[in-house]
Amino acid sequence: MGEKTGYSIITYKLRLYCSQPQWLYETKRVYNLILSYYYRLLMEKPEIWDGPGQKLLRQLELLTIGSRGQDKTEILYPLPYEKIPLYFRRAAINDAIRLFKSYRSGEENGSQPAEDFQAAPIFYKGMYKDFTEAGISLKLWNGEKWVWEACTLDTCKRSLPEGGSYLSPTLKLEEKRAMLHVPVRQPVEDVRTVKERFPGEKKLCSAVFPENDCMAALVVLNKAGIYEESLFIRGGKQFLHKKKRLLNRIQKNRASMGMDNQRVGQLEEENKYLKRKIRNLSENYAHKVSRRIVDFCKEREISILVVPNYKAALNGNSYDWLGRRIIQYLRYKAFQEGMVVTSVGVGNTAFVCYQCGQAVKRSPETPGCGRNYSGWENYICPNGHKGNVHFNAAINLGRRFLKNIKTEKNNG
Ligand SMILES: [Zn+2]
Repeated sequence: MGEKTGYSIITYKLRLYCSQPQWLYETKRVYNLILSYYYRLLMEKPEIWDGPGQKLLRQLELLTIGSRGQDKTEILYPLPYEKIPLYFRRAAINDAIRLFKSYRSGEENGSQPAEDFQAAPIFYKGMYKDFTEAGISLKLWNGEKWVWEACTLDTCKRSLPEGGSYLSPTLKLEEKRAMLHVPVRQPVEDVRTVKERFPGEKKLCSAVFPENDCMAALVVLNKAGIYEESLFIRGGKQFLHKKKRLLNRIQKNRASMGMDNQRVGQLEEENKYLKRKIRNLSENYAHKVSRRIVDFCKEREISILVVPNYKAALNGNSYDWLGRRIIQYLRYKAFQEGMVVTSVGVGNTAFVCYQCGQAVKRSPETPGCGRNYSGWENYICPNGHKGNVHFNAAINLGRRFLKNIKTEKNNG
């Protein structure tokens, strides 16, 4: 058990069903009208931004709404929209401040002010009620007035955590569907850094994420770098196969677009849907694999997880790569369980033998391996050591971590 506690915030994405979907769009439209009013005010009156104002939100309200208190200052820039609920307006103002801030901070690099606003409305308290896993009531603008509308929610098989506190949900309108993004804040038992917890640990788990049938190769090492056990998570071929089928359909649709002008719109729609399916597929696999890794470590009371820092080694296509998503999910899932994920530069971890340090050669002797060289899963070194390349890379990576942390300790 750790001595240092903290919290994590994770956003859950729920499908939202509303019997009056046009009200959702209306509400978003009004939200962006208000947002853009305040954004433009900040643009045109830089003195508000540059002024002494610590409480920018309050200042903007005084200038546009006024104050109910005794000091009736003049409302210089009255908000031209009436009947806007207080917390709806505040959410929009905060969004305007956020966007304006990001414009200002990027101004030197040539960032342009925003012109078209498509922000997703955030529902502060007072704008929603009766929130459960199955539904929520939202205060919506129906074109004439604000009304409470009971909507249905679908958690998409991912139940919301108990004991967390729920923060303001955001309404995301995608093409033909509405989603509610709900950030959940949860306590975490152990948030110590790697350095802080390392002295008390007995072992660590190191993992690599090849993009073939093996989606993750894990090894457990003790602190002396001695191998204890391993786990290979397979199923990557099935994933790649499903993904390829969807990609082929997209390709086919693209080809048809060139030949059939009439159906372009329909085909584009279908491709958007297919792309979303690919994303969902990757997310599902990444969730499963990362969950399995976290459970594996938890059972063994391992709280340090070493992953490769591929950043430097990858090109632009890396976004597409499943391993990246697995690491991303691994980070927050591990964090929630009081573990820590640390990344280590890959260096030559895949190219040298973990037993003797000599350069390895890959050999195609494993049955079922593809013709392509990088698909070969076995290696051999000049001293005759043989094994699985991912296993070898994971051990090297774990040892590299141990070497780094020990050098740091000696220097510090
Ligand atoms: Zn060797």
